[in-house]
Amino acid sequence: MNKFGRQQKGYVLALALLLLSVLTAAGLRTGHPAAVEADAGLAGDTEESPSVQAGQKLIALTFDDGPRRSTTTRLLDGLAERGVNATFFLIGAQVEENQDVVRRMDEEGHQIGLHTYDHVRLTDLNRTDFNAQVEKSRALLKQVLGHNDFLLRPPYGMLDESVKAWAGCPIILWSIDPEDWKDMNTEREVKLIVSEAQDGAIILMHDIFPESVDAALQVVDQLHSQGYLFCTVDELFAARGIALESGEMYWNAYP
Ligand SMILES: [Zn+2]
Repeated sequence: MNKFGRQQKGYVLALALLLLSVLTAAGLRTGHPAAVEADAGLAGDTEESPSVQAGQKLIALTFDDGPRRSTTTRLLDGLAERGVNATFFLIGAQVEENQDVVRRMDEEGHQIGLHTYDHVRLTDLNRTDFNAQVEKSRALLKQVLGHNDFLLRPPYGMLDESVKAWAGCPIILWSIDPEDWKDMNTEREVKLIVSEAQDGAIILMHDIFPESVDAALQVVDQLHSQGYLFCTVDELFAARGIALESGEMYWNAYP
């Protein structure tokens, strides 16, 4: 090849590198770690230090007991339209038959956590039974997603010293609970969540109820208009400079 050909090759390579750096900067990377940008307005650049402006109100939506194909898919559509990322604590048995939905969550930047395999109380289990619930779910999600960095939310928030010792990851609880399973009343849930919303809060909902999906999306719209940014649990704590530790419990990230 003549000199001109080599120059052309060099030019193409430089162009490719430039394009790659632009794509990376734009957050269009695939795979894990999941997109750091929790919200359209949260222009985080690294996992350690999302560039959240001082005084910015942050809040995390979390959903337990899914995935359920019909409701979870509609929720993911609504969150995508609004540029919002949430955290999903999944039931292992339901992951089995909804692997594509779980992959979609991961690819769209949502955070994923464990909520046992069969939705059982973790207290008073022996180690074998604990592993059959938590480690089995962890192994399944690792197999589906190719990474292994899942938070734990124990069903009913029930914990004891063994659960903390065996969790193998941070334990995430919540600060706002509309008890959406009780009456499945969208209007009541929205009112309660919006009235209790505060900077650093973690909202507990269930993406297996159509009414909760409606409520969650209305909450996003109302709190967006109040200046809140929605982020995943990891992003919420990272933004507050709190390093989550294995076996420790977290209810909120109030400033
Ligand atoms: Zn649950």
